[in-house]
Parts: sequence; C-alpha cells; structure tokens
Amino acid sequence: MKINIHAGHNPDGKTACGAVGLIKESTEARKVKDEVIKLLKAKGHTVYDCTCENGSSQSDVLKKIVAKCNAHSVDLDVSIHFNSGASDKKGNGKTTGLEVLVYSTAGKSLPYAERVLKKIAGLGFKNRGVKSRKDLYFLKNTKAPAMLVECCFVDDKDDVKLYDYKKMAKAIAEGILNKSLGAEEKKYKIILKGSYTKAKAEKIVKAVKDLGYTAEMQ
Ligand SMILES: [Zn+2]
Repeated sequence: MKINIHAGHNPDGKTACGAVGLIKESTEARKVKDEVIKLLKAKGHTVYDCTCENGSSQSDVLKKIVAKCNAHSVDLDVSIHFNSGASDKKGNGKTTGLEVLVYSTAGKSLPYAERVLKKIAGLGFKNRGVKSRKDLYFLKNTKAPAMLVECCFVDDKDDVKLYDYKKMAKAIAEGILNKSLGAEEKKYKIILKGSYTKAKAEKIVKAVKDLGYTAEMQ
C-alpha cells in the first residue's frame, strides 16, 4: 500500500499547535504518526509523512498538509489528532474516547475508518463511532480516500491514563492494514560462560561463526 500520514497541527510552541490538556495534542500526534510510519514501513509499505512544521496559521497548516498529501498518489490519507472538550481532568473512571472522521460514510475510506475505530476501542477507549464531516478542509480537499483519527481526549484523565502512543499506533496500523501485527518478540542475550585455552576458544568462536552469528574472544 501507499499511505500518506501526518500529525494534524503545528509543533508545540508555535501558532495553531492544537489542543492542550493533561497532554499536548501536537506532541502526542507526532509520536503516534512516527510510530505508525515505522510499523507500516516495517511491513514493506510506502509511507509519506505530510506533517507541516511551519504553518503561519491553522488554515496555512491545513493548506500545506493537503498540498503535501495531494503531491503523492496514494491509497489512503491519514490525519492524526487528539480531541478536547471532555473537561474531566480529575477522572471519573470512564474514558470519553475516540472517533474517526471521514468525508462521507459512503466513501472508500469507511472500511479503514471502521477497522481503526474497532482496534482502538479494543484498547479500552469508548467508541464514539465513525462520523461524517463535510466541513473539514483535510477531508474535503484530499484526493485519496481520507480519514481523520481523533485518538482520545487530551483533557480526560481516564483517556490519558489508558493512552500509550505505541499501543495507539499499533491499533491504527493494524486497522489500516487489516491484519494483526503481533507483539514485538522478546530478545535474549547469550553469554558463554567459562575460560578456555586459546585453541579451544578459537574453536568455539569458529563454531558460533559457522552458525552465522558473531562472537569474539576476550
Ligand atoms: Zn486536532
């Protein structure tokens, strides 16, 4: 697949840097999109990062993002955002949750949106559904099927507690690809114990190298 992905706002500290609550939208969206890119590329997909780092206003950020998106011919455009407006900074034991926005629920992006929604909801976030938004510049002006993921709420303590950028990214990547990416396998270190004569040590190093691994004498 060929996929465009971006974090929805300017970097923190600049104008139009998105929602700020217990966490910052701009920072988290960048972490999530970087991780999604890593996961998709690891599976051999072509991914373009269309994030804008230097917009002069919110509309300029959007214009620059869409120009980058439309410069590539892709299967899917993905925008990563975080929501705000929950006003639950103390936590009430319930997440406010996630939603995925598409231009039209009759469009080609719907299956992607539904899968991403289901995967993120599977992490424990309240499922607010797929919503049609005809007013959003990104959804309206991108050429490829597009979806905007509102991962969770920055101003809900329950959302923030549950949120982990790696899990969020994995859920998004799995939803896009329609497959499970599995857990990262634990790696073990091997240390050969004992001290050997030079001849024996050389023999052991050679045996390890013959198996295709590296080893060295100390
Ligand atoms: Zn946003």
